[in-house]
Amino acid sequence: MAFDLHTHSTFSDGTETPAELVGRVAASGLDGFALTDHDSMDGLAQARAAASAAGIGFLPGVEFSTEVGGESIHLLGYGCRAEDAPLAEELHRVRNGRDHRTPAMLAKLAGLGMPLTEDEVAAFAANASAIGRPHVADAMVARGYVRDRDEAFARWLGDDRPGYVDRYATPLREAIALVRGAGGVAVIAHAWSRRGRHALPPRVLRELLSGGLDGLEVDHPDHTPSERRQLRELAQEHGALMTGSSDYHGTGKKEGFGLGACTTDEATWVALRELMGSRGGVAG
Ligand code: AMP
Ligand code: ZN
Ligand code: FE
Ligand code: FE
Repeated sequence: MAFDLHTHSTFSDGTETPAELVGRVAASGLDGFALTDHDSMDGLAQARAAASAAGIGFLPGVEFSTEVGGESIHLLGYGCRAEDAPLAEELHRVRNGRDHRTPAMLAKLAGLGMPLTEDEVAAFAANASAIGRPHVADAMVARGYVRDRDEAFARWLGDDRPGYVDRYATPLREAIALVRGAGGVAVIAHAWSRRGRHALPPRVLRELLSGGLDGLEVDHPDHTPSERRQLRELAQEHGALMTGSSDYHGTGKKEGFGLGACTTDEATWVALRELMGSRGGVAG
């Protein structure tokens, strides 16, 4: 059996609704999936209902924007109680940071000769609780400034590009505590993609795994075979969970990010659900 534990819908920067995503999961032959939109749990009810109707396994998740030493790190929280006040308040703060960044990005892009209105961006984020750079990229594509999201990130919106604007993210250790306080299981997403390689060396990952972090997303399209091997060894040292996921965004990300590109095995799926259940989280 195979499970994909990291996917996005139109509630953040994926291009398919939760129900459309469930249709894809069913057609792909996967046995179950987790919806992990950025900084929002608003799509989970729709995903749960559609998964149940389709007879597909489902885990509720969220991909939390966090930071270590100013570097962006994504934390997957599985099975969190959406009504948990401390977690809900902090996710709200992160989404506020996203909302405030959009006009600042548009000002920069205007200065670079690519004017756009907030309404144009909003048109591509119609259902999104968490607005992000991919929605700005979509508006740039519509204006003909770039061909696709990839070009928008590579030339303008990526972390070291001229249209980049920073935003608020929760300190990683605080985010792990919030996920666990809400009954959830904390797994670092694509630990070694982009700047994560600098922010999370093995010494820091060991310290986190000894101090409350439950697992690592080992198999991810951004990780090389050698990185996966090292991350697997680190997780095994601590008896931590090892997941694999595609980080599917529909048509919003292309090469290598197809649904089921990386997967999680049944034993890990069962262990995750048991851990959530034992913490009073939402196990499905
Ligand atoms: P933001 O959440 O606004 O900081 O934007 C970062 C998000 O954009 C990441 O979490 C990815 O989901 C997405 N992303 C990053 N690089 C690309 C890319 N080259 N093409 C499309 N989406 C991307
Ligand atoms: Zn995304
Ligand atoms: Fe991510
Ligand atoms: Fe993601």
